[in-house]
Amino acid sequence: MTETIDIVLTGPLPNQTADGLDKAFTVFRPFTGAEQKAKLEKVADKIRGVAAGESHERLDDAFFDRYPHLEILASCGVGYDHIDANAAAKRGIVVTNTPDVLTDEVADTALGLLLATVRQLPQADAYLRAGQWLRKPFPFTDTLRGKTMGIVGLGRIGNAIAKRAEAFGLGLAYHSRSPKPGAPYPYYPSLVAMAEAVDILMVITPGGAATKHLINAKVLEALGPKGVLINIARGSVVDEKALIAALKAGKIASAGLDVFEHEPNVPKELIDIPHVVLLPHVGSASVHTRNAMGNLVVENLKRWFSGKGPITPVVETPWPKPTKG
Ligand code: NAP
Repeated sequence: MTETIDIVLTGPLPNQTADGLDKAFTVFRPFTGAEQKAKLEKVADKIRGVAAGESHERLDDAFFDRYPHLEILASCGVGYDHIDANAAAKRGIVVTNTPDVLTDEVADTALGLLLATVRQLPQADAYLRAGQWLRKPFPFTDTLRGKTMGIVGLGRIGNAIAKRAEAFGLGLAYHSRSPKPGAPYPYYPSLVAMAEAVDILMVITPGGAATKHLINAKVLEALGPKGVLINIARGSVVDEKALIAALKAGKIASAGLDVFEHEPNVPKELIDIPHVVLLPHVGSASVHTRNAMGNLVVENLKRWFSGKGPITPVVETPWPKPTKG
């Protein structure tokens, strides 16, 4: 590549990735301060690519309006509910995400969160550190023995969670909009019916409008007073107010949450419930996996600008473009 290609990085990426971007492109980082923002404004009509790093910014028509010659938006993460991919498609902008490279990491975290929640491991750690073990043993907890887990969203990560859960001896079932051919677990077209039948709900669907508040008061009621909810998907999938009410009223037993409706803000009412386990959205956040995700962002951009097409386009912006007629 001899010509200089100008791209925007919307938020931080792992160092290794950022170095890869700088080697291949001229990179503007508006999130680092006024100086970079001002520089970027001067060259906005030359921007041809966006690398979407860690940021809570919504990338929609208003964002695309700023860059009239944008060709590709390469996002770091498999979920892209913060991107209006349909609006991008209308403008002929290709959107890419980072599937597969994070699947095992997120599945590991999901099982860790489940075990931490059911066996109260963070609470036991805090108990020891507070010197309470010297007075009396930590109280007995609930168990995974003999339990059944319903997976909400049996996709790439849902399947990886299911494999691990089998090794833990859990019974399994799943719900999604369509049955998955070859899946060896019972399929529930009704989420409420599955919640009634299982002890644990593991939520791992995409976020966005289609799944907003999929886990509502009715689903939580069906899960029941001994039920446990784990959400490693997106905060928007769970009606947080209904969840807090259900936990306070003992309508479900507990919850383990990696994601929240208004991140990074977590309601004080949730923080004040001592037996829930709350993580700051760390599902994929290991050095190894974040580097792998970041490298895929760089490779998508490099491939695009060398004319070979993107590696992992999202379904809304397929590549090669389907032929009309
Ligand atoms: P995937 O392979 O596309 O799987 C998504 C699954 O959800 C599919 O089985 C799909 O089946 C189901 N689904 C979609 N819409 C649904 C709906 N309205 N109701 C019920 N089921 C629905 O995606 P993936 O790679 O497993 O990733 C899943 C999600 O995990 C991502 O989109 C992201 O939001 C989240 N995630 C979180 C973290 C974290 O750090 N906590 C990290 C990575 C990913 P049907 O189409 O048949 O419904």
